[in-house]
Amino acid sequence: MKQEGTIPYKIYLEESEMPTSWYNMRADMKVKPAPLLNPGTHEPMTFEELRGVFCDELVEQELDDTTAYIKIPQEIRDFYRMYRPSPLVRAYCLEEKLQTPAKIYYKFEGNNTSGSHKLNSAIAQAYYAKKQGLKGVTTETGAGQWGTALSMACAYLGLDCKVYMVKVSYEQKPFRREVMRTYGASVTPSPSETTEVGRRILAAHPGTTGSLGCAISEAVEVATSSEGYRYVLGSVLNQVLLHQSVIGLESKAAMDKYGIVPDVIIGCAGGGSNLGGLIAPFMGEKLRGERDYRIIAVEPASCPSFTRGKFAYDFCDTGMICPLAKMYTLGSGFIPSPNHAGGLRFHGMSSTLSQLYHDGLMEAKAVEQTSVFEAAEMFARVEGILPAPESAHAIRATIDEALKCKETGEEKTILFGLTGTGYFDMVAYEKFHNGEMSDHIPTDAELQAGFDGIPKFPGNEF
Ligand SMILES: *Cc1c(COP(=O)(O)O)cnc(C)c1O
Repeated sequence: MKQEGTIPYKIYLEESEMPTSWYNMRADMKVKPAPLLNPGTHEPMTFEELRGVFCDELVEQELDDTTAYIKIPQEIRDFYRMYRPSPLVRAYCLEEKLQTPAKIYYKFEGNNTSGSHKLNSAIAQAYYAKKQGLKGVTTETGAGQWGTALSMACAYLGLDCKVYMVKVSYEQKPFRREVMRTYGASVTPSPSETTEVGRRILAAHPGTTGSLGCAISEAVEVATSSEGYRYVLGSVLNQVLLHQSVIGLESKAAMDKYGIVPDVIIGCAGGGSNLGGLIAPFMGEKLRGERDYRIIAVEPASCPSFTRGKFAYDFCDTGMICPLAKMYTLGSGFIPSPNHAGGLRFHGMSSTLSQLYHDGLMEAKAVEQTSVFEAAEMFARVEGILPAPESAHAIRATIDEALKCKETGEEKTILFGLTGTGYFDMVAYEKFHNGEMSDHIPTDAELQAGFDGIPKFPGNEF
């Protein structure tokens, strides 16, 4: 293995070098992300309205677009210490395989039992719920990583955890479901008969395999109708990006130790939380005019919110009971093709990242799933880590950038987010190995059906 000067294969931080505050990118944005709107009045959601859904301190974080640094409570830092700091790895083996002059680094967030970065926000959200004296939380989960992370956090703090799991994943990923139950969560396939909105969706679409938007509606209904419960969400929201900034802050601290400055930062984007967290301190420098970086969001071609979506106010859920968020969206009725196996299937995108993309501060790229799994397999064979299909979107784009460097001879430094491991995604890997995986790219007409569901009201032209 080649090793350059003093830069080791893995760069670890000392516990004492871990961030003590999260960084809130919104504080440095000149154009702030648009506020959440009340779906009835189209007025910005107030603290009072939001506190019925989320716990109080999280509502404060959600609405705060001026405080740059928010202290991480000691209890959360203690939990972080159980699995953080996460390593920043120099991908020497991948570089060698590609014969590229590019220098590739990845921040690996899969080194905890839940297997992804989602634990960084799960523990924060569970902590504030506990601190408020609540009994429990409800949530949705798609592929299952978020539900697993939240179950772990709730078990640690002694909170009840009710998870609505997208039906197709519930059936395809029994192991993921059992991990959640091991941590004490109750897991219900969504749509279900247990909620009003679930029954309504089942009546309209019998036999549906569910969607994240639909599971969100169910989880919110249960939270708002059960005493002592609040809803928590694993992505998309400003508060989640805030908690995930720990990824970027650690990456930057590790790189600073060796004087490494990335030219390109790449992350996969489902709802935008890992990417928002990874880029946070770098985007901060960019927003303040201190340094420039190229930032690339990578999404599946079968669920192309950034690259083909509309920038408009839309519902976050299928049941249309949640606040409206201004974001790049495919419409809340959009459900990715059932042969899409690679995750990142939410129809919308973080408002913060949407605004940054709209303002030209970052780029986006859509990739097809067979090429994503090819990248995943190459990475696994040389770097050893079995990546989550979601993470493999970032690997694909990184390999493409590194191959461009090979052509041009540029020695660019690339940082990408390796968000998690793929142990529970072996059905998807199996399809890929058996040649049964196809690439579905929605037609304009298919996308139009989703856009037709975006609410129309004055000021929401798109
Ligand atoms: C949930 C998840 C993602 C996508 O979510 P974001 O909010 O866009 O980060 C990516 N990778 C893994 C491993 C995940 O579990």
